Amino acid sequence: MGIVAEEIVLRGLAVSKGIGIGAPLFFSNVSEEVPIVQISHKEIDREIERYRRALSSSRKDLEHLHYLSLQEGSSEIVAILGTHLEMIQDPIMTTVIEDRIREMQHNTESVFHGLIEEYKERFRSLPDDYFQERVDDIIDVSKRILSHLQPLPRMKMTEIPHNSIILAHELVPSETVEAQASAVSAFVTSVGGITSHAAIIARAKGIPYVANIDLKIFKGTDPHALIVDGSEGLVIINPSLATLKKYEAMKKGQLASFKQLRHASRLKGETIDGYEVKIFANLENPQEISALSKHGAFGVGLFRSEYLFLSQKQFPSEEEQFEVYKKMARGLKGKPLVIRIFDIGGDKKVDLSPSDGDYHYFANVGAELNPALGCRAIRFLLRYPEILRSQLRAILRASAYGDIHILIPMVSDISELRQVRAHIAEIAQELKLKGVRFCSKIPVGCMIEVPSSAIMCDVLAAEADFLSIGTNDLVQYVVAADRSNPSTSDLYSSLHPSILRLVRTIVTCCNEFKKDLILCGELAADPLMIPILIGLGIREFSVSARHIPLVKHTIRQWRILEACRLADDALEYTATQDLHRFLADVMRRRC
Ligand code: PEP
Ligand code: MG
Repeated sequence: MGIVAEEIVLRGLAVSKGIGIGAPLFFSNVSEEVPIVQISHKEIDREIERYRRALSSSRKDLEHLHYLSLQEGSSEIVAILGTHLEMIQDPIMTTVIEDRIREMQHNTESVFHGLIEEYKERFRSLPDDYFQERVDDIIDVSKRILSHLQPLPRMKMTEIPHNSIILAHELVPSETVEAQASAVSAFVTSVGGITSHAAIIARAKGIPYVANIDLKIFKGTDPHALIVDGSEGLVIINPSLATLKKYEAMKKGQLASFKQLRHASRLKGETIDGYEVKIFANLENPQEISALSKHGAFGVGLFRSEYLFLSQKQFPSEEEQFEVYKKMARGLKGKPLVIRIFDIGGDKKVDLSPSDGDYHYFANVGAELNPALGCRAIRFLLRYPEILRSQLRAILRASAYGDIHILIPMVSDISELRQVRAHIAEIAQELKLKGVRFCSKIPVGCMIEVPSSAIMCDVLAAEADFLSIGTNDLVQYVVAADRSNPSTSDLYSSLHPSILRLVRTIVTCCNEFKKDLILCGELAADPLMIPILIGLGIREFSVSARHIPLVKHTIRQWRILEACRLADDALEYTATQDLHRFLADVMRRRC
């Protein structure tokens, strides 16, 4: 008789609900270690040649950056890049690497990585601060060279075997968006927050996800099966037969109640006493348009257009974008389509390698200490007007085929709206002269995602055609807790009283200026929050398509007056925990 492996239960951060049962699969991504590959004698010259080419490309990158920094007059950067150039041209390092490739007969990446680790150790052990600072330079230079070495073929989400549970250090949105719920049973990662983009996509696809799990425990064990409980944040390694049976029954039950809810998609989003709440869909993938009517969506309230870039790792041309937007607009048959212009940066920055065509846009932005507060979204687009204008032109041209709206992400100052409007006006003039058809009154809205725009929402409501509250970011910036960081997930709470107050203020401003207001953060799909949001005056929600039936079902359980009273009571609370308890209590009494 074989030895029965022990059942191990790990607790992490519950990110996407549902039960996943399957076989573990380590998904190698960027933070994985550099693999050691034995090479044959014949392959030595080829490996050395690869190393020389990587050095030469790295030198060209550095020379280009050096030139740009000289022009900008940033003397500190010039000095750092100068140091990097010297390191790259160090003949001793090159000789050592080439000798080792010959002696060890290992792939270039592993030899290079090994030597860099030795250098780092040596420098770190030296007492002088100067040498400590050089460690950062070594890391930087080595990353550049490694990125130029021909990468080993990477695993693709689209090729994952069925019933896999993906284990990874971190998930990036461009990979997650390719995962298919029919093959991927669940995600487990060491890093990741509740409203990180990978998490949003996992929820939209209905894939259970638990983050904040130390994956070291899997090393040395060979688990035959895993269970992921995305509602409770549990990962069970080698479940016993009894546990397996229990979770299989739970999974069946969840599936049945999800199917039961589906009928709500055909119903209107309205309260018991007939107040209409419009439910739109959030979309990352244009192909999902065809499934929207099945889910009962009023239209698309947020098309995250940046996924056109994230999935192909380069900016789509104006023509490509035009075709996509036109097809989406037509597919919606007159229903609204809100296209958010590229929201790139923060956790939505793609790891481009220097050989990628669009790398220079990000190289020029530089390494940011604080990407969430850096050159992202509208800031990035205004820095590169050619990208912005090509997208706006594509949207304007597509506006002849449906009811398209333009949404600006992460507005922090009214001047950003004015600049976008000025670009639109110029492009409209050009199109007119060419006789191209477009909608001359295309609505332009601002996302309220940062404190400055929430505080100044009266000014924005006066000038914009509509506003959209992005609570995923708003919460992050208002409570100053990274949305992707599991160690601040206890602070990242949509139930912080400040958020409720801000939502009320924004609603009041929009009512005063008679402007439409939509709420498109993950909050809009939380049955606990929906009645409060209606009570605060929100009448339009945008959520992942698969959550629309649940949102409609929840709205249909409430009377407007009850919801208003609930919101008023909630606004009295000054501490997140107390508000949480109060709400849990209300919901328990209603059940
Ligand atoms: C938000 O921040 O709430 C939002 C909808 O935008 P994203 O999640 O894409 O940043
Ligand atoms: Mg956002």
